[in-house]
Amino acid sequence: MKNQDIPVRYKKDDVLTVEITDIGNDGEGIGKVEGYTLFIKDAVIGDRVRAKIMKAKKNYAYAHLEEVLEASPYRQDAPCPVARACGGCQIQNMTYDRQLKFKQNKVRNNIVRLGGFDESFIDSITEPIIGMDNPWRYRNKAQYPVGRDKNGKIVAGFYAGRTHSIIQAADCLIGIEENSKILDIITSHMEKHGIEPYDETSGSGLVRHILIRKGFASGQIMVCLVLNYRKGRDDGTGNSGEFLAGQDELLNNLRSIPGMTSVSVSINTEKTNVIMGKEIVTIWGSAAITDTLCGLSFEISPLSFYQVNPVQAQRLYNQAIEYADLTGSESVWDLYCGIGTITLSMAKSAGKVYGVEIIPDAVEDAKRNAVRNKVDNAEFFCGKAEEVLPDFYEKLSKGKDILDGKLPGSALHPDVIVVDPPRKGCDDKCLETMLLMKPERIVYVSCDSATLARDLRILCDGGYELKKIRACDMFSWSCHVETVVLLSKGVKCFDEWLEAVSDEDCGKLK
Ligand code: SAH
Repeated sequence: MKNQDIPVRYKKDDVLTVEITDIGNDGEGIGKVEGYTLFIKDAVIGDRVRAKIMKAKKNYAYAHLEEVLEASPYRQDAPCPVARACGGCQIQNMTYDRQLKFKQNKVRNNIVRLGGFDESFIDSITEPIIGMDNPWRYRNKAQYPVGRDKNGKIVAGFYAGRTHSIIQAADCLIGIEENSKILDIITSHMEKHGIEPYDETSGSGLVRHILIRKGFASGQIMVCLVLNYRKGRDDGTGNSGEFLAGQDELLNNLRSIPGMTSVSVSINTEKTNVIMGKEIVTIWGSAAITDTLCGLSFEISPLSFYQVNPVQAQRLYNQAIEYADLTGSESVWDLYCGIGTITLSMAKSAGKVYGVEIIPDAVEDAKRNAVRNKVDNAEFFCGKAEEVLPDFYEKLSKGKDILDGKLPGSALHPDVIVVDPPRKGCDDKCLETMLLMKPERIVYVSCDSATLARDLRILCDGGYELKKIRACDMFSWSCHVETVVLLSKGVKCFDEWLEAVSDEDCGKLK
């Protein structure tokens, strides 16, 4: 039946029985009743359910799951007691194997539909998704808002749904086991000493958020209390190191947690949704913790960016390294490099690596991480990939070695360009310059397969060929999926290149 032929059949509050036959991008179940599509949150593919229409459109509606009449073989009880209220995990009631299949399909469908690639070709170059051996307790970082529940008790937890009321965090099953113990210590201490949680409406109260991070390889734990701390700033007397009543007692209790390495305070007096303040004061232990990833050691401070699922991040990076196929002499650009994790992991098997990242602090971290790991063949540049790369390209193609040789002519036509952009994908100008630089291989790491598909189309229209695709599950029980794709320079590119070098003037390459 064609869409325009479908009459408006259903309206708000209608209750329908429906078979769930598909999964939406956000993990919701999709079913059809006489051609009318229903999107039903928490319904699992294979279920037969009763659902009540909440919002009816002409050809589709959003409906509320009223009852599961026949459970799908892929349905499981959400293991986490707060999965539904918290909303952080959208698909905890789908079995893990089915979830992996859903993620693999999501990537495939986006690349086929949005990228306009042939289905069977995509299937022929797709490798099996990299799932987790144990998809629980994988997050090394958690941030909890602190407030009062409806009975006035101090709680640290998460915002319920889209509201600003806080629900006590029962033990979140994707976080580390130590989280709930740490939260208990802090909230009990606050109750005992009359320390007020922050109230965002009035801007009063002290404790806003609690940040906890753990180095999975090192076992080191960091706690950072985000405080609306004014004393000593307003009266100009400075601070003696005492931010909370009974601070020593609190520190003693926190130190009883095995692995505790760093306790700090982040001062945030702004009325803002930004969690962390800029100023960090260490009140016990070290200023940072360390962790090991891909054989490299990284220093993690409360503000530094670090992958939240280190086990899978390592597997994803190893896949990217395999696709890059380095033999020791290559020149490699790593665009959107963050703190240099991929750049530095590739450095040991490359001739020279160049990282580009927009956030100055991340670039500083990357440089420090290079020194820390004795990597001396990496350079990092701060700026937008879509500005830094074209700018260097223009200068290099005029035949100059720039930045005192930090960027030699060989960087003009690198062997490999790696990109790992945020969800919006690569900027057109960045893709255009990559095509001009004509690397042998492009390794595209993506956290959004829709923008990935768009960018792959541009790169393939520019002469590249898709060689391999592999999804990786970094955020189990959520709908997110990471993908790594290998492209190589196609015949078309090679011909143009031959023509250009026969002119003995690489500068003419466009
Ligand atoms: N490759 C890194 C980080 C990937 S996240 C890792 O795996 O750890 C994407 C990174 O791109 C972030 O660090 C973000 O700050 C950076 N970024 C966002 N827009 C950018 C741009 N236009 N140019 C360069 N970097 C950008």
